[in-house]
Parts: sequence; structure tokens; C-alpha cells
Amino acid sequence: MYTKPIDLHVHSTCSDGTYTPTELISLASDAGLSAIALTDHDSIAGIQEAVQAASHTDIEIIPGVELSCDYDGQEVHMLGLYIRPDDEEFSAKLEEFGRVRESRNKHMVELLAEEGLDITYEKLIAANPDSVITRGNIARYLVENGCVKDRSTAFSKYLGDDCCCFVPRPKISPTEAITLIHQAGGLAFLAHPLLYHMNLESLTELLTKLKTNGLDGLEAVYSTYQPGDERNMKKLAEELDLLISGGSDFHGSNKPHIRLGVGMGWLYVPYEILTRIQDAKTQAKR
Ligand code: AMP
Ligand code: FE
Ligand code: FE
Ligand code: ZN
Repeated sequence: MYTKPIDLHVHSTCSDGTYTPTELISLASDAGLSAIALTDHDSIAGIQEAVQAASHTDIEIIPGVELSCDYDGQEVHMLGLYIRPDDEEFSAKLEEFGRVRESRNKHMVELLAEEGLDITYEKLIAANPDSVITRGNIARYLVENGCVKDRSTAFSKYLGDDCCCFVPRPKISPTEAITLIHQAGGLAFLAHPLLYHMNLESLTELLTKLKTNGLDGLEAVYSTYQPGDERNMKKLAEELDLLISGGSDFHGSNKPHIRLGVGMGWLYVPYEILTRIQDAKTQAKR
């Protein structure tokens, strides 16, 4: 059965996406989507605007977030779906993450300036008002101001994990992320599990451990998966009794090869996936 597609992993200008929440609703409408989850990095600031913009349409908005975590030195991402947008404790936690990012970003800008690039922290902020600033935003700034020829150069020369201007930042554990998401009423999904360069055994070990700590699901449908990946992730979810989610990880022109709802052209996330998540949410009384 064909149902209208959905997209449960979307970024706006509240983090490193290039479309505002309002513009995303218009794009989602053009793409024929019936639901989108706004999942900005460490931010739920765009939810209210998205809900408002969607109120004139049939599009359902799922309030979400994407938290960066550290698992034995490997960065992994946790998606929270159905976060309460007015949860004060959760918002306070996000503000704390924002302060950690701020000091790390200031340090990175200093290093970039030492490399002779024309950037100041004030100018970076001015180019990204009201936004959680990630390396994605810094890369964009460097391209737009002629410091590097393109995004991939920004990452390969300056911003990548092994590069001269990269500054790590302390991150929470995946288990802490799950707890925070649950406390804010949400369900926790390990984002893009195949992007962590883990073999199936280590991934299964991680997911088994996280399931014990309350993990609700994994992102089994994703833009950049190779043929077979989706089937393998669905099988793993079934074996571990985990829910699945799916999305494009749309960032607008910050990831120009990914389109909302369809990823690289062949992504399809059916509404049934959301129905199962909603049923689980009801059962969990969150
Ligand atoms: P941060 O959380 O500040 O470390 O930045 C992470 C964000 O930067 C990710 O969500 C991506 O949007 C972007 N990013 C990180 N590494 C790369 C890369 N090698 N190429 C392109 N974008 C990247
Ligand atoms: Fe990003
Ligand atoms: Fe991510
Ligand atoms: Zn993302």
C-alpha cells in the first residue's frame, strides 16, 4: 500500500539547515509529505514556528531534536521524537550544550584566524542569528566569505576531526541522551547507525546495551544508505525488539545532494513507521 511519505529527520536554520521552519513547511507541502520531524542539533527553538506554519496545511509536525553523544571516543547521534517543546528542564539542558558549543566555536574561530582566514566570532554569529552553530555553519561561512572554495575543502583542510582547527567538545553519553529525551516526553532513536563505521557485531553490542538503558529505536531508513542497508537495519531492529524511524537528514544547501523527503532520490519513509512510533508512545504513556 502506498501512503504519503514522511520525513523524520530534518534540520532548519535553528541549527545547520539553510531553510527556516516556515520555509520547510512549504517545501514539505511541495514534496507531498504528510509529516515531518524537525530535529535540529541541540535545539527545539524552531518547533513553535514549524507548528504555526503547518497549521494552515495538512502536514503533521513531530517536535524533535538531535543530540550529539560520545560512545568510547566515537561520536554518535541520538534523535528524540515527540519532545515536549515547552519542557523547561530539557530547554535548560540544551542551553547548557549551547554554552559548551559557544566556547568550542570561539576556540575554533581563533584557530581559523591564526591560519590567516578572515573570520571573527562576532561575524560568525551575525551570519547565523538565533542558531545553534555547528561545524556545518562554520563551513558555510568560510565558503560564503571566500576563505575556501567549497564545503568539502573546509572540512578536509580545517574543520574535519583530524584537522588543525578542530576543537573537540565534551558530549553526553548515549544513555544520558536517552534519559533526557524520555524526561522530556520523547522517544529515543539511534540516528544513522551505519555512519559510525562500526561492524555489525559492535553495532549490535551498542544497540543491545542502549536497549537495556531504554533506547526505543533506530533510524533504519536513511538517505545515504547503500542497497541492503535498510533491510539489514530493519532486521536488526526486529531482532532487538526496537522501533524504526526514517528520514533524509535534510540540511538544505548545507548538504546539497540531499532533498527533503526523497534524500538522494530513492528514499521513501511510509506513514506506517510513524503510526508504530505513536502506538509505542501511547503504550509507554509518554
Ligand atoms: P558539530 O556538531 O559542530 O561537530 O558539527 C557537526 C555537523 O557538521 C554535522 O551535523 C554535519 O552537518 C557537519 N559535518 C561534520 N563533518 C562533516 C563533513 N566531513 N562534511 C560535511 N559536513 C560535515
Ligand atoms: Fe548537521
Ligand atoms: Fe546526525
Ligand atoms: Zn541530522
